Amino acid sequence: MDNKLDPWSSSNITDYSKLFEEFGISPFENILPEIPSPHKYMRRRIIFGHRDYEQIAEAMRTGAPFSVMDGFMPSGKVHLGHKMVMDQIVWHQEKGASAFVGIADREAFSVRGFSWQKCREIGVEEYILSLIALGFKPEGLIYFQSGCGSVKDLAFELGAKVNFSELSAIYGFSGETSLSHMLSVATQAADILQPQLEEFGGSKPVVVPVGPDQDPHLRLTRGLAGKMNMFRVEERETAEGGKYLSVRGKGAPREALQELKKRIPGKVKLYEEHIDVLQTPDYAFLERFVLQINQPERRNYFMTQIQEIATFANAAKPPEFSEYEKYFVFKRVWKTTGKILEEVVAEVAAEFDGYAFIPPASTYHRFMSGLQGGKMSSSIPDSHIALTDDPKEGAKKVKRAKTGGCITLEEQKKLGGKPDECSVFELMLFHLIEDDEELLEIREECICGTRMCGSCKQLAAEKMQEFLKDHQEKRELAREQLDEYRIIYKK
Ligand code: SF4
Repeated sequence: MDNKLDPWSSSNITDYSKLFEEFGISPFENILPEIPSPHKYMRRRIIFGHRDYEQIAEAMRTGAPFSVMDGFMPSGKVHLGHKMVMDQIVWHQEKGASAFVGIADREAFSVRGFSWQKCREIGVEEYILSLIALGFKPEGLIYFQSGCGSVKDLAFELGAKVNFSELSAIYGFSGETSLSHMLSVATQAADILQPQLEEFGGSKPVVVPVGPDQDPHLRLTRGLAGKMNMFRVEERETAEGGKYLSVRGKGAPREALQELKKRIPGKVKLYEEHIDVLQTPDYAFLERFVLQINQPERRNYFMTQIQEIATFANAAKPPEFSEYEKYFVFKRVWKTTGKILEEVVAEVAAEFDGYAFIPPASTYHRFMSGLQGGKMSSSIPDSHIALTDDPKEGAKKVKRAKTGGCITLEEQKKLGGKPDECSVFELMLFHLIEDDEELLEIREECICGTRMCGSCKQLAAEKMQEFLKDHQEKRELAREQLDEYRIIYKK
C-alpha cells in the first residue's frame, strides 16, 4: 500500500492492518464492549478502526454532549457506499449526538470544476433526500460549505496555522495544486471543528465516520485543533512520582491566565504563560471546582458524575473497600478533575475569544467491493448500486454480481462456497440482512455446500428491490419535508 492515503483517488485499500501501524489507528474491536447496543457495522467488524472513540462511547453511556459530523462531496450518484456513512450519522444521532452534515460544494467546485448550481442540485437531489429518507432527524444541521459563514471564517483562520509543505506531506500536493483546492482542505477541517464553536455549545467530543481514504483530513484537523487552542491541558508527573495537571497558554492574554487561576480552587502556580494545578485530587477539591463551571447543564452533568463516584465509594466502605475499588475511585476522581479543568479552560478561552477544541474522534469502515469483484467505481454502473437505481434494475445487478460459488452445482455441494469472496454475501452483510443469526446461518450453509448461488442471489435480489422501492418512496416523502429541516444553502 502506498504510504499516502488520497481522499480524491478511488484506490482500494486491501491491507487494513497496515493502517494500524502506519497511521496510528486503533483496532475497533477493543472498544466494542464499551458501546451500548453497537451498530451492525460495529458488530460485524465492518468498522475496523478508530481514533479516540472512547470519549464518544463514554458520552453515549453518560449522556454527556457529543456530536457526529460528516460531509459529502456532491459529485455524482448517491450509492450504497454513501449509505454506509449516512447510516452511521443517523445511528449516532439516535444515540444522542447533535448531527452536522456538510455538502462539500467548495471541494466539488475546486476538484471537479462543478458550478455552484450543479453542486446544489446534486447535493439536494442525491445526498440530502437519501440522508433524510434513511432517518436523519430535523434537529440536525445540513449546510452547503459555500453558504456557511462560520465554516468559511474558521477555514480562513485555520489556513493561518498550516503551510504548503505540511499540506504536501499529508496530501501529496504539488506545485500544480490550485489555491482553491488547498482552501477546500482547510474548509474540511473547519467542517469537522464547527460543532465545537460557541454557537453550537462549545467544546465537546465529535466523531467523524469515514473510510480510511479520508484519514488525511482527520490527521490535519487533529493537528490544527491543538494549534488553534488558547490553552493546552496536560497531565504531568512530579519528581516524587505524583501527578499534577498543567495548563499552558502560549500566546494567551495574561488576563485569561489570571481568570483561570481565580477559577481553580487549590494550590496553583502561575508562571508567565503556565499554570500548575498541584492539588492532589480529592472530593472537596472537586466539589469546589465543579461550581466554577458557568454553564448550568454542564455543571449538573459533572455534579452527577461526582455523586456517582461518591455513591460507589460509600457502598464499598472499609474493610470491604478493596485495593481495586480504591484504585477505581482514585482513577475516576482524577479523570473527572481533568475533565472539569478542561471545561473551565474552555469557558475561559471562549470569554477571551479563544478556542478550546477537542481533537476529533473518527471511525474507519471497510469499503464494499464492486459487484463484479475488484473496485467499486461510480463511473462503472454495474459495479455499484445507486440508491436511485430503478428497483428492478437494482435486483438485476444483484443477479449479475460475482459470487464465491463453484462452477457446477455438484462441485458446490461437495466443496461449498466462499462467502468472504462473494459480492452477494457482502451485500447481505453490509445492507440487506439485519439479523446476525440469519446472516451466520447463510454463511454456514454456503460454506458447507447446502446453499446454492441461484436461490441465494434470488433472495438478495428480492431484498434489494424491496429496499430500493421503500427508500425511494421515503425520498419522495423527504422532498415534501425539506422545509422542516435546517439547511443552509449558498446565498
Ligand atoms: Fe455467495 Fe450465496 Fe453463493 Fe454462498 S451461496 S457463494 S453466499 S451467492
